[in-house]
Amino acid sequence: MISLERLMSRFETMAAITAPGLPGINRLAFTDSDWQGREYLMSLMRDARLSLHVDSFGNVIGRRAGKDESLPAVMFGSHGDSVPSGGNFDGVVGILSAIEVMQSLDEDGITTKAPLECVLFMCEESSRFGAATLGSRAMCGELTEEDTLRYADKNGVTLHDVLMSRGLSPASLASANYLSYHDALPRAFLEVHIEQGKVLDTSHEKIGVVTGIAAPTRMRVHIHGSADHSGATPMELRRDGMCAAAEAILAVEQSANEASGIATKKSDDENDKAAAPASRPPVVGTVGVVEAAPNAMNVIPGEVTLGIDIRSIDYDAKRAVVDKIKSRIDDIMTRRGISYDIEPISDEKPIAISKEMVDFLSSICEEHGVAYRAMMSGAGHDAMHWAERVPTGMLFIPCRDGISHNPAESAKPEDIVTAARLLEDAVKKLGNT
Ligand SMILES: [Zn+2]
Repeated sequence: MISLERLMSRFETMAAITAPGLPGINRLAFTDSDWQGREYLMSLMRDARLSLHVDSFGNVIGRRAGKDESLPAVMFGSHGDSVPSGGNFDGVVGILSAIEVMQSLDEDGITTKAPLECVLFMCEESSRFGAATLGSRAMCGELTEEDTLRYADKNGVTLHDVLMSRGLSPASLASANYLSYHDALPRAFLEVHIEQGKVLDTSHEKIGVVTGIAAPTRMRVHIHGSADHSGATPMELRRDGMCAAAEAILAVEQSANEASGIATKKSDDENDKAAAPASRPPVVGTVGVVEAAPNAMNVIPGEVTLGIDIRSIDYDAKRAVVDKIKSRIDDIMTRRGISYDIEPISDEKPIAISKEMVDFLSSICEEHGVAYRAMMSGAGHDAMHWAERVPTGMLFIPCRDGISHNPAESAKPEDIVTAARLLEDAVKKLGNT
């Protein structure tokens, strides 16, 4: 049986595994606290009598044998890392409910026809290396050793070095590919996750059955202004990187607003217009990173780097916004006489979840008498890599006020347990058909 008490005590243990002295949860990928969380989750997998496989990227698969071991496995799980000063539910809800399902099946003596695999993905969050879902990418054969040399954290430490320091093997990253040690991909992949938005919390439905996942296009814009004396340089002789960056940031907002049918917020009147429902698929644009050098009061900012993230469920709408942003940035920099370059980080395709899977998970919600809604995911998840390859489903639970990536992130125990029960039922059904 899925146990609320056991699940809650495990959330408490995970909450205590965080880098000290910082607000919220801090388990940045491959740091000591992330590694400690991974050790704990592995111990829970062993408690559930799973046989563990660790791949060359550090992903952990806990397997429960099926009656017919020649069948492809049903896989389910999530990630254990966090953003800086994040919450204890993003990722954790998915991996702890997956382990709970395995524990429950073991206690109830249930063996499915197909083997079951509970998976802990490493490095889902992009906070450390600027790229997300790296563990899933490794497992899907989409991450190379060259990539690990290219990705570095803000201290300049490469992912390659980080993997080596954890005793992992970036040189044999190809062996992390699921198909390098299995004849076939899993027959299905399932992930439970907090919604990370306000839709369910506002509508009071208990479960979101995900119909598609918006995927990010990310880039860094390096603006090469001139770092001159802030007192001795008259205004007309400046090439201020930060002022150019400020215009570029607003160009991102304006471009995403226009694509979403929203007036850019300038006055109360226009804010009223912004409240009108958008008829087009929404595109969201964010500049979440601004780095200025030399970052001194008495120097005009020269080198400025912006980190831009654009998302939509509609790839063409997203592409159009990216193109618009690039052309606006070009106009701004040309007008200001400032050179710049754009470093592409990622350009991922939004993912559609199959109607069969949406219907399957919806029917399970109905059987359990759980109020649910079919909905899109605005955030990216490990599941998107699997959805391109195998039947994939996601269940969302509400999070309080839609807050996520924040110490205030919170989900109700009863919603977590509901999701774990639905997951168990889905896994049993998929494992026996
Ligand atoms: Zn997550």
